[in-house]
Amino acid sequence: MTIYLKDAVFIDWQTLSFQQGNFAVPPGDGQVVSRIDQLPPEPAPHSGDAILNCKGKLVTRSFGCGHHHIYSTLARGMPAPAKTPENFQEILQYVWWHLDKNLDLEMIRASALASALYCAKNGVTFVIDHHASPFAIENSLATIRDAFELVGISHLLCYEMTDRDGKAVREKGLAETEAYLADGNQGLVGLHASFTAGDELLTKAASLIERFDTGIHVHVAEDISDQEHCLQTYGKRVIHRLHETGVLNRSRTLLAHCLHLDKEEREILSDSRAWVAQSMESNLNNNVGTTDYRDYGGRILLGTDGMHSDMLRSAKAAFFVGQGTEAMDFSNIYQRFRNVHHYLSSNSFKGDGENNLVVLDYNPPTEINPDNFLGHFVFGIESTHVESVIANGQLIVKERQLQTMDEDEILEFAREMGAALWQKLG
Ligand SMILES: [Zn+2]
Repeated sequence: MTIYLKDAVFIDWQTLSFQQGNFAVPPGDGQVVSRIDQLPPEPAPHSGDAILNCKGKLVTRSFGCGHHHIYSTLARGMPAPAKTPENFQEILQYVWWHLDKNLDLEMIRASALASALYCAKNGVTFVIDHHASPFAIENSLATIRDAFELVGISHLLCYEMTDRDGKAVREKGLAETEAYLADGNQGLVGLHASFTAGDELLTKAASLIERFDTGIHVHVAEDISDQEHCLQTYGKRVIHRLHETGVLNRSRTLLAHCLHLDKEEREILSDSRAWVAQSMESNLNNNVGTTDYRDYGGRILLGTDGMHSDMLRSAKAAFFVGQGTEAMDFSNIYQRFRNVHHYLSSNSFKGDGENNLVVLDYNPPTEINPDNFLGHFVFGIESTHVESVIANGQLIVKERQLQTMDEDEILEFAREMGAALWQKLG
């Protein structure tokens, strides 16, 4: 089952070189794309081979999301919370923690399918998700995994463990994490945040990380209140607290946000092996601040924080705000946008090889070439230009239509589950 790209302009995602011609995209994890002189005359029947006419189209590596929350998918348009939140802690308490406590496995399945659909159509073929559903923990990760795989999205999942709902819920989070990793799935050990994870939980999380040779995925200093809580409760700042457990020495470790770090914490982070996931629109929406990521050691990647599944949009937001906070330029934002591939490949995660591609129907009013590609990346190319998507050599979106599942059925199921969730929210 090979996909042939006919008459494509192929843009190398690293060198930005342009190559015009025909290309063969083989299936399977880690397969590479090759340029070919001759296309097969016609795909052999039942072979699964396909020829995509890419005349006038650009083809390049598809995208990855470094920090997502599929559990928030059914929140769009939901009834207003009981109280209008006035700060970050109240946003969690009245919006997200009220929502995630009411999720059941079918709602999670609907959320994962709908998010995967949006990812696919936006050219995002790999998702790193951070999941919470305190009263439907068992099998939640396998439910998300299966939904993603039906759509054709590769994944790196974790359950965000916490003490906020008591000991029984905490133990279930630990059990789910252990069961998922022990089953041979690639994954991370998730914690919600320092302010909701006591020392016993942090120690247990660190020992799971050790045992499964993986990293932590945790929100760090998203709001200043996380630092205040850490100083009051443990007499130290969040990065120091995490550093003492050894998790920052692991290259799979992924810290979301890291907005409120002092100079010493920035130095520790820079000297560590941890990666940082930036989600600019979420930070703006929650009014928690912005930061300069330039002294974090260069291991910065981009996420959506569950607000949407459009990584080109995340990159643009980080670029525009970054003008004022960190002298952001084209090359920096492109690097950050693409760093997810380096994070995944350097840590030997599967599902993000070179045969993950987007076909862009991008017809600009000006010339596009290797020298000015980044200007088009920032100001021109959007997810509406994503016409077809190839994930691990499989054509999952063709001419803007999902190929692996019925889009209408996914969205109908999501709306049904959304209505049931909103009813529970009261
Ligand atoms: Zn998050």
